[in-house]
Amino acid sequence: MKITNPATGSVIAEAATDNAAAVRRKYEAARAGQRRWADVPLRKRLEAIAGFRERVVATQEKLARTLTQEVGKPIRQSRNELTGLLGRIDFFLQESARALREEKVFVDGNKMDERITHEPLGVVANISAWNYPYFVGSNVFVPALVAGNAVLYKPSEFATLTGLAIADMMHEAGVPRDVFVPVLGDGATGAALTRQPVDGIFFTGSYATGKRIAASAGQRMIKVQLELGGKDPVYVRDDVDVKAAAAGLADGAFYNTGQSCCSVERIYVHESVHDAFVAAFVSEVKRYKIGDPMDETTYIGAITRKPQLGILKDQVKDAKKKGAKLLVGGSVVRGRGNWFEPTVFVDVDHSMALMKDESFGPIIGIQAVADDEAAIDLMNDTEYGLTASVYTADAKRARKIMGRLNAGSVYWNCCDRVSPRLPWSGVGHSGIGLTLSTYGIQTFTRPKAWHLRSP
Ligand code: NAD
Repeated sequence: MKITNPATGSVIAEAATDNAAAVRRKYEAARAGQRRWADVPLRKRLEAIAGFRERVVATQEKLARTLTQEVGKPIRQSRNELTGLLGRIDFFLQESARALREEKVFVDGNKMDERITHEPLGVVANISAWNYPYFVGSNVFVPALVAGNAVLYKPSEFATLTGLAIADMMHEAGVPRDVFVPVLGDGATGAALTRQPVDGIFFTGSYATGKRIAASAGQRMIKVQLELGGKDPVYVRDDVDVKAAAAGLADGAFYNTGQSCCSVERIYVHESVHDAFVAAFVSEVKRYKIGDPMDETTYIGAITRKPQLGILKDQVKDAKKKGAKLLVGGSVVRGRGNWFEPTVFVDVDHSMALMKDESFGPIIGIQAVADDEAAIDLMNDTEYGLTASVYTADAKRARKIMGRLNAGSVYWNCCDRVSPRLPWSGVGHSGIGLTLSTYGIQTFTRPKAWHLRSP
């Protein structure tokens, strides 16, 4: 497999991929490895994860540069991802013992004693995305390993070097090679992995792939978690500081070049502040520097997957045809690599793909709304439901609106945010199951019920 830098189109490395037979061998090794790993005391498993963390810290700059080279993410944002990773690992290190402890839930005199233990699922497949490989990967493999599972980890083919670096650090830290097992390749390798008799499949990626995985796993009664895409809306009420909201939301839409599952993808603004908001938003976007992702001042990087350029071009064409007004950008940047200009549309509506389908790039539509009810209706008019956000000075009103939003995460005066302490989940086409929070530790276990009657 050739690994290409999306910013330049140059091949930067080659990697050997796993065919179906190799995937099978890796599965068998992991099955044997898991039995031993489950017997390792939790304290020791946590020590190994702490060792992994130490290695991330020691090589942080090198890891950031590798990530930037293979996915085209601006270097400062790669560093941010690695710093954010440390906070997530810390959460798991601090909370796992409590989340996995045996629970005594009922005692009836001296006779009946009821308990719950959290047993590892066994061997789990983790098929991952490229856009935040450290985040979306660690949300799965860290708690899965801590809970006593073996993990067959398939990084995205667009983040293979990062996947290999993660595996090296895990092994150096003492996680056995047959317990954290990298599986390399594209969708065909992923499909071969899902055909193994694993005990769970934890997938992060697109709705299209997630649907296939769910169908293939449905027959087998194993745990399947799917963290999929989004079309995340924001509503800006008429009582906000328009400039501050515009700056925050432009960042929410364009950070990581718009390639975040929880990027702001649609903005609804109260008609009385619409024009002022749009002016502030556009002036913010015009300041963004697009270019060499290795440059410290770059904010807009490359589009990681070339086919996404076609989707963005089609959304622009469709929006223009249906009457939207283009204020900034709108085109592929000519030259080497995959580049798309930061793009802002107004006068949009829900007949346009731009407002319905995941864009996953540096493009946004801003629509004026008459009142809260209209905003809520439009925000919920989607097949997805990952995050949704309200900007307003009115706390009570915000709570009311947020209560009616059909999304896994709701935000007040913030957006594009993930916390290790809160569950990360989606509704509808955004997926099933969850990661993060203490629930996202227990999700890698099977609760076992103990009914103990004293003789
Ligand atoms: P993708 O679906 O193209 O690929 C994801 C993974 O699935 C890759 O490792 C790929 O090799 C593998 N794969 C492809 N076909 C497969 C098959 N038939 N069987 C098994 N595996 C297969 O998605 P992507 O381009 O890597 O990621 C972008 C998508 O991920 C976006 O939709 C984004 O919103 C979503 N995402 C969601 C979250 C979240 O937490 N909800 C986080 C990050 C990304």
